[in-house]
Amino acid sequence: MNSSIACDVLVLGGGPAGSSIAAVLAEKGWKVNLWEKTPHPRFHIGESLLPHTVPYLKQLGVFEEVERIGLKKFGAEVMSPYHDEPVTLYFDEALNKAYPYAFQVRRAEFDNILLQNCQKKGVQVREGLEAKDVSFSNPGQAMIHGVTAQGEPMRQQTRYVVDATGRQTFLANQLRVKHRNPNHNSAGIFGHFKGVARHSGKDEGNISLCWFDHGWFWIIPFHDGVTSVGMVCWPSYLKSRIGTLEEFFWQTVRSCSPMVDRMKDAEAIIPIVATGNYSYQSKVMIGSQFMMVGDAFAFIDPVFSSGVHLALHSGIRGAEVVDACLHGHEQAEQKARQFERSVRQGLKTYSWFIYRFTQPAFRNLFMSPKNTFRIQEGVMSILAGDLFGNTPTQRPILLFKFFYFLFSMLDLKANLVQYRKRKHAVEEKSVVS
Ligand SMILES: Cc1cc2nc3c(=O)[nH]c(=O)nc-3n(C[C@H](O)[C@H](O)[C@H](O)COP(=O)(O)OP(=O)(O)OC[C@H]3O[C@@H](n4cnc5c(N)ncnc54)[C@H](O)[C@@H]3O)c2cc1C
Repeated sequence: MNSSIACDVLVLGGGPAGSSIAAVLAEKGWKVNLWEKTPHPRFHIGESLLPHTVPYLKQLGVFEEVERIGLKKFGAEVMSPYHDEPVTLYFDEALNKAYPYAFQVRRAEFDNILLQNCQKKGVQVREGLEAKDVSFSNPGQAMIHGVTAQGEPMRQQTRYVVDATGRQTFLANQLRVKHRNPNHNSAGIFGHFKGVARHSGKDEGNISLCWFDHGWFWIIPFHDGVTSVGMVCWPSYLKSRIGTLEEFFWQTVRSCSPMVDRMKDAEAIIPIVATGNYSYQSKVMIGSQFMMVGDAFAFIDPVFSSGVHLALHSGIRGAEVVDACLHGHEQAEQKARQFERSVRQGLKTYSWFIYRFTQPAFRNLFMSPKNTFRIQEGVMSILAGDLFGNTPTQRPILLFKFFYFLFSMLDLKANLVQYRKRKHAVEEKSVVS
């Protein structure tokens, strides 16, 4: 068995969460190693970023590189077969106007930039090395066992372990603390396409979302003319599939009029794939010698494109906690508690919107945006990822929730039918993993 020299921090996973925490810790002078199972560049889903991710990209020193491979996204278009006209919501309509755009990126390119960046900052990156087992038998020390792509066993001693293995949830599985989300369940089917109709000018890079009877679609344009298109649906709808995944995807596109227009000349350039079982949370996030960041801790749903933002937030802010812990600072525990609270609060804020996204009352509010009492600015702030600063979003969001309940009461029957459909979907197990 090969064994590396002990390090201060071993980061497992080289996605946005892992690469960002590794980079910041290396900058602080710690000896950081990172194991990544799949050599980069590699395909990953999750291609639409949020405006408030931009300061994180600047802090990491990768903004210019991301700008080169990204397409600017100034807003989100919401299309609905239940309403006459689409609506476009712009990020410069948020309370804080300082971050008017985000980027659409191919994750293979984006994640590679972040991984190379942490390498440049001194992180020792091992690609093609999968973590298999961890033991915390000695205080202040952990031993990780892994295996290379060639089947060679490896082990590494470290003072601190950061789990950033994404939906593989390495540590939460080992510690048996992963829990399926009792309030949400859905599946995604997606691919990359050429020939998808897109808008021009400032609107070219907008994400488009479109509801259909069993879920919703996304359209994410890239800088090179290729477009990511996917649908998120109830698992029961996916189970009703007869024929191939590709046939099922196109059949669903044809059932949704706004999508037909955009997809009439589209052609898949990679195989269409499905994923499910992605709504979960770990009971534990931080221990005396470990931390879970990004999807390794929790994931809910892709609808508000919050995954990469939360991964970078937990990576960059989590590094402060690991640093304090390694130094043995008195405030380490307090910092850990504050950090954990911010991540859980961020997830909770998005959860409220995610759980209601397919309700008729929610659709009606989104399709007729009004800035009475600055509600629209408040909602746009959340959609822009403005969760962790001092922007006063509380009052407008509270009012939005009030109007949501009012609209639900005014059309009680339709909202109850959709609520029961959702509840049934949550109780069902996903059919793909
Ligand atoms: C259908 C769908 C659509 C989405 N769309 C969006 C979107 O538009 N915008 C958005 O922001 N988010 C989106 N997301 C969420 C987004 O993909 C994730 O939140 C984000 O990638 C999380 O980053 P991460 O670094 O935590 O994990 P990941 O990006 O998943 O990185 C984890 C890394 O760990 C590696 N790894 C796994 N196991 C091991 C192991 N045992 N040892 C070593 N390495 C390991 C993996 O190879 C991977 O590279 C979407 C998710 C889904 C399911």
